[in-house]
Amino acid sequence: TSQGKKEMVKAIRIHELGGPEVMKWEEVQVGEPKQGEIRIRTTAIGVNFIDVYFRKGVYSAPAFPFTPGMEAVGVVTAVGPGLTGRKVGDVVAYAGNPMGAYAEEQILPANVAIPVPPSIDHKVAASVMLKGMTAHILVRRVFKVERGHTILVHAAAGGVGSLLCQWANALGATVIGTVSNEEKAAQATQDGCHHVIIYTKEDVVTRVKEITSGKGVNAVYDSVGKDTYKASVECLASRGFLVSFGQSSGRPDPIPLSDLASKSLFLTRPSLMHYTATREELLESAGEVFANVANGVLRARVNHTYPLSEAGRAHADLEGRKTSGSIVLIPDS
Ligand code: NDP
Repeated sequence: TSQGKKEMVKAIRIHELGGPEVMKWEEVQVGEPKQGEIRIRTTAIGVNFIDVYFRKGVYSAPAFPFTPGMEAVGVVTAVGPGLTGRKVGDVVAYAGNPMGAYAEEQILPANVAIPVPPSIDHKVAASVMLKGMTAHILVRRVFKVERGHTILVHAAAGGVGSLLCQWANALGATVIGTVSNEEKAAQATQDGCHHVIIYTKEDVVTRVKEITSGKGVNAVYDSVGKDTYKASVECLASRGFLVSFGQSSGRPDPIPLSDLASKSLFLTRPSLMHYTATREELLESAGEVFANVANGVLRARVNHTYPLSEAGRAHADLEGRKTSGSIVLIPDS
């Protein structure tokens, strides 16, 4: 059924690559859901570093103008012809494709929508879907964290970092986190880091060697990229895993195989998309995240909320390292 609405809604649109100022608050037409699609009225939208990459052109942007955003929670307002299993009024969330979450209403393929358990607040859901599923694949599938492992997590107070540290701690690992300042260090400690290194004051490699009695760590989770790659390699134990999953400071330089040969290291560059490509994998990841939120293993940190119209400010703060935990945009009306 469809409510036959064709009204205009407000959305952020980008007409050219650039800084946060290229994000414009404009009227757009959403249209009606086609076969296999639903339409949602967004209630909480997750901001992720990937949104910055698309805005700046680090990842190639779709055709202009485009609406950024890859994570939202919302209420179904219309369903495509013949669709079963979803109805108007359902609360659903999605993370990943399609892009276009920074909007008051959005069309989604029904098969990316995950029902949000009623016990979970919309803002919480929007802060743990993409980041929590990323944490899930990183600690359970990319490199399986086990009791006895020691791991290093860069940007430990960040959106993904906070959840990753909580999860790895619950799995029994010794967790070392890096952060830029004292406030973030306090949060990382609360999130299960046994050791926190303030990289603006201490040398990361020296500290990791001290903490591990010279052995190094079993895995490094590195989302910072360019600035951290070298230290990450130096921090690894023999046969350690370098999990490079982002580039908040820029793309790392090309990596010579000899860097890996020096300690028989493993290197992987995972993307959430490839680990949630099937509906089954997607449901498994989302299910693990929501279950761990419900049982208290994961404590969502919705540290920053902004009106959707001010998404540019959220980006500036995220890129400026001013944020910790998750950022959520709330539609203005
Ligand atoms: P964060 O909340 O982690 O924000 C980025 C943090 O990185 C900053 O707060 C800052 O923490 C640290 N940082 C270090 N150097 C820089 C720099 N030069 N510029 C900006 N930040 C810097 O963001 P998200 O949780 O949204 O994402 C974390 C990372 O994970 C991103 O790189 C993202 O691309 C990646 N990611 C990858 C996925 C995948 O599938 N591969 C999926 C989801 C996220 P501090 O102040 O402590 O230095």
